[in-house]
Amino acid sequence: MSKEQGSESTVSRRQIMKEEKMAEEKEAPKKVSRREFVKGAAAVASVGALASCAPAATPGPGETAAPAATCPPAGECPTPWIPEKWDYEADVVVVGYGGAGACAAINAFDAGAEVLILEKVPSDASLGVTERPSGFTVSGGGGNSCICGGGGGWMPDDAAEAAKYARIGSWGTTPYETALAWAEAAMQNKAWFDEVGIPCTVGEPEDPEFPSFSNLQTLSIQQEPVVGKKGGGAAGFYYLDQVVQGREIPILFDSPATDLIQDPISKEILGVVANSGGTEISVKARRAVILCTGSYEYSERMKLDFLRSAPVHFYGWKWNTGDANLMCEKVGAGIWHMNVMSGRYVAWFPDYEMALGSVSPTYGIHVDKRGIRFATENPLQGGGHSYWMRSTDFDLDVPEYTRQPMFYIFDEVTRQEGGVIGRTFLAASQHQGGVLLPEALGGFPWLSDDNSAEIERGWIQKGDTIEELAEAINNHTYVAYADPNWSPFDDVTIPVHMDPAVLKETVTKYSGYAAAGEDLEFGRTRNLRPIEVPPFYAIPCWPGGANTQGGPIRNELSQVCSSDFEPIPRLYSNGECGSFWGMLYEGGGDVTEFIAFGQISGKNAAAESPWE
Ligand SMILES: Cc1cc2nc3c(=O)[nH]c(=O)nc-3n(C[C@H](O)[C@H](O)[C@H](O)COP(=O)(O)OP(=O)(O)OC[C@H]3O[C@@H](n4cnc5c(N)ncnc54)[C@H](O)[C@@H]3O)c2cc1C
Repeated sequence: MSKEQGSESTVSRRQIMKEEKMAEEKEAPKKVSRREFVKGAAAVASVGALASCAPAATPGPGETAAPAATCPPAGECPTPWIPEKWDYEADVVVVGYGGAGACAAINAFDAGAEVLILEKVPSDASLGVTERPSGFTVSGGGGNSCICGGGGGWMPDDAAEAAKYARIGSWGTTPYETALAWAEAAMQNKAWFDEVGIPCTVGEPEDPEFPSFSNLQTLSIQQEPVVGKKGGGAAGFYYLDQVVQGREIPILFDSPATDLIQDPISKEILGVVANSGGTEISVKARRAVILCTGSYEYSERMKLDFLRSAPVHFYGWKWNTGDANLMCEKVGAGIWHMNVMSGRYVAWFPDYEMALGSVSPTYGIHVDKRGIRFATENPLQGGGHSYWMRSTDFDLDVPEYTRQPMFYIFDEVTRQEGGVIGRTFLAASQHQGGVLLPEALGGFPWLSDDNSAEIERGWIQKGDTIEELAEAINNHTYVAYADPNWSPFDDVTIPVHMDPAVLKETVTKYSGYAAAGEDLEFGRTRNLRPIEVPPFYAIPCWPGGANTQGGPIRNELSQVCSSDFEPIPRLYSNGECGSFWGMLYEGGGDVTEFIAFGQISGKNAAAESPWE
């Protein structure tokens, strides 16, 4: 307990809580089975409003704040932060049911805590998983974790070296202690999977995306016969969900958390306010709350404010809208890593909210709006999951981003070889991990194998010569922003004026390098082939990808902290919700992180002593 323990206000709060508990026991069922939770979110009958002493509406300019109607005389309301009634309670309340939420919940449960999970989306919003060709189901939720490519992430075999790498990757923003805690826990990830019964194997080490680190052993979740060959995340979340179900940990679906309930004196987090099926509920967390709500990849406001490029379009879980950032702001937490994402260039068209997938060159090249090549195109050779940083070049004289959109240029041979949009260098990351998402979840139909449907739709521009292609590029209208409210311009489009001669020169030069087998400009070594067989094609591309990493600051105990790293008592986090990855994200690192910090957050939250 905090140092205010035993103070007058805490004692009186306790007394009040006792009385409330007795009243509650008369009214509410003490225990609710998992099944009731799962089906009953929308049917919450009794609602707990926050106590009437909560401040009334914010006064307008020149107005005086009106006291809440039922407020007792000044000074007689000792616990204005306590709800009049708790609708649910548990030792540990986990907010968000993706991989991070599942891991944290399992660890807290196994450490002896009674756990309740709140999830934003209705349980049937996991259709993306049930509609996989193999047709297996999860109970709901899943987040990015169930549509991602990696089921098990990877495991370091040297904690100090891994921590050093992560700290350098974070460009110094993540304290070494936090990086070390992650690395030590991550080394236990396989042992933890074994303990809870998730079948997995340790694979061959993979090359890291950046130098100075060489011990990334992959941890693969067994996929057959569950999910076929693609989509490790779906298998990973399927097994995690099985473990959660096996422990009968209740999940309240359709219940986005909207606020944290904080003791204003001790700053302890006592519970969560959520909107359950349209009804406000109060959920008591006797020991702690663990925030696992993902990051903010679908908040247009946050993306514009924090990412280093704009617009940015994602193909992840569309309910990750940075809710924890808003909740944490009110309880004094700081945010970090808001300028970091795992991404590269994607195809996005206003027909669909989600980006369609990565556009990674097989045999084409990337050119900017002027028709000039700017980097080795293969992300594996030039930035991996940080390739999106190439998009940040900004021409102050215009002013505009020079690579927004950027164009992927290819020829007829490449067109016929297979679909270019969403065809990435990793089969597993193709189309949200190979998952066919229904449109209700933001998904889109499968794309054509020879790009013909995309050309037909006007998504791909075409020219019989390179110069004609440049004209076609210039004549096209590029919608950049889905929501006009977030466009910095008068409309949502971005004009392109590419000089045909410049594009011609770029393609000719590159084709010469390719024919000679050496890219003298950027040192590209993969897929070198001249672009020379007409017609020629161009896909407009935007920075984007899987997910952002920013959220509340996390320390080595997985506690949420203020900007000066003071923990907010009884508040923890896991996963993308304030990931410890900063600046340079290492592919596979998100899954590795949520399994590792799932162990740390779950155990530490369960070890808190109950506040009443
Ligand atoms: C296509 C794709 C491929 C990827 N591939 C890889 C990979 O190969 N390897 C890797 O390591 N990582 C990969 N990632 C990233 C990785 O999937 C995520 O970073 C990770 O799964 C995040 O886990 P999480 O539990 O923190 O968030 P999520 O899995 O997104 O779960 C967050 C959950 O919180 C819920 N939620 C949001 N707000 C609220 C609220 N207010 N109240 C209650 N619930 C809320 C959401 O609905 C969601 O279910 C990929 C991501 C994508 C999209």
